[in-house]
Amino acid sequence: MREVTFQSLTRRAEIGANCYVLDTGRARIALDSGMHPKERAFDALPDFPLCPDGSLDAVVVTHSHLDHVGSLPVLMRRNLRAPAYMSPVTAEFAEALLHNSVNVMSAQREQEGIKEYPLFTHRELDGLVRRWEGRQPGRIFELAETGVRAEFFDAGHLPGSVGVRLNVDGLIIFYTGDVHFEDQTILKKAEFPTDPVDVLVLECTRGAAERNPDYSREAESKRFAAMISRALERGGSVLIPVFALGKTQEILMLLHELKGRGLVPMDAPVHIGGLSTRMTQIVDRHTNDVRRHHAGFRILESLHGLVKSKKGERISSSHPGRIYALSSGMMTEKTVSNEFAYHFINRPENALCFVGYADPDSPAGQILASAPGALVPLDSVFPPVPLNCEVGQFDFSGHAPRHELIDYARRLNPRKILLVHGDGPALDWMAKALSLAVPECEVIIPLPGEKIVLAR
Ligand SMILES: [Zn+2]
Ligand SMILES: [Zn+2]
Repeated sequence: MREVTFQSLTRRAEIGANCYVLDTGRARIALDSGMHPKERAFDALPDFPLCPDGSLDAVVVTHSHLDHVGSLPVLMRRNLRAPAYMSPVTAEFAEALLHNSVNVMSAQREQEGIKEYPLFTHRELDGLVRRWEGRQPGRIFELAETGVRAEFFDAGHLPGSVGVRLNVDGLIIFYTGDVHFEDQTILKKAEFPTDPVDVLVLECTRGAAERNPDYSREAESKRFAAMISRALERGGSVLIPVFALGKTQEILMLLHELKGRGLVPMDAPVHIGGLSTRMTQIVDRHTNDVRRHHAGFRILESLHGLVKSKKGERISSSHPGRIYALSSGMMTEKTVSNEFAYHFINRPENALCFVGYADPDSPAGQILASAPGALVPLDSVFPPVPLNCEVGQFDFSGHAPRHELIDYARRLNPRKILLVHGDGPALDWMAKALSLAVPECEVIIPLPGEKIVLAR
């Protein structure tokens, strides 16, 4: 067997621009091609110069979050021979999201003077999409003509998300991508393989925090419903910052269920913004052909009280008695949820519900760390706003809690585990826990750029 190596092209060991290169000795395969959510211009890309232009034979994309697919057009431009393999649903979301990225980058070029933007164009994207190859979970296929056989497995993280198992001349490698092992409102839990592998590449998003042992999704949903109902009753409105794809549809469906059970007032309108409508259309196109709950249910046609904003319309002010599910989830500057918050968080009758991960540096993170009444900076240009509304945080994460990642690694009993997609403390905790749980296994936190030999 030739030497097989794994190299991380991330610039730091963290959750950012995920991209890993597998070199089989005969072929080079990239796993994911993300864009860093906090960096700008070329700093937001993976360290592509580590991988010579034209040297890739294939790319595999696990799902359509931008930290996994955001730089794919740049990578494919540098590697004109390489097709990109992903699930058909991921391809639909990625195409829509990347076209949206072109618009966002073009606006940043104007407003912030970032001359490198946009890093790719609409027209270029239209050309590159022709080299995307849709593959369904449950079927083995060959990656280009590399001799490497691949199979996708439903990851339960996002519509269309997969983990990928690769067979390199008998060496079995499983890359989880982002994974959740529990049911969500729409998504069913991951259906991952349990037969042994040689190498496991494992995400570690939630490695730094133990989930409350009393946690149940049902109790969390009731607490969420109670906070919403309280705000509506006292004449306020509710803001739920959400990512347009995935979390928006999960929260809409959860609100629909809670209304049906009488836990949220049935007549409360639920507003969503423009990009969320586009993403929901794609989810609605796949109500029967993907593993999911509420099969056949079309959100845009059938959801209790749904109000879509018109094309180009920006929701900027709240009305009493209404619920607003607006992107972005971390209330990043210049997004709808951020601008909406200006005339929202200062009002004590309102309620702000966080339902996903918030980076401590993001406006959402700043709000969560602030005491009631404190002045919160939402934007670098405008003055800070007093935080007078009720704030709540709810665990509807699309990532597996850490004990389930450990259990899964123990079941596969690999020879090597590579820990990726986690901040420092998360990676460290996982490395310690795994060295106890799977003692014969070598646990590695890949350093950026370091070539790790998987087999020789
Ligand atoms: Zn993800
Ligand atoms: Zn991710």
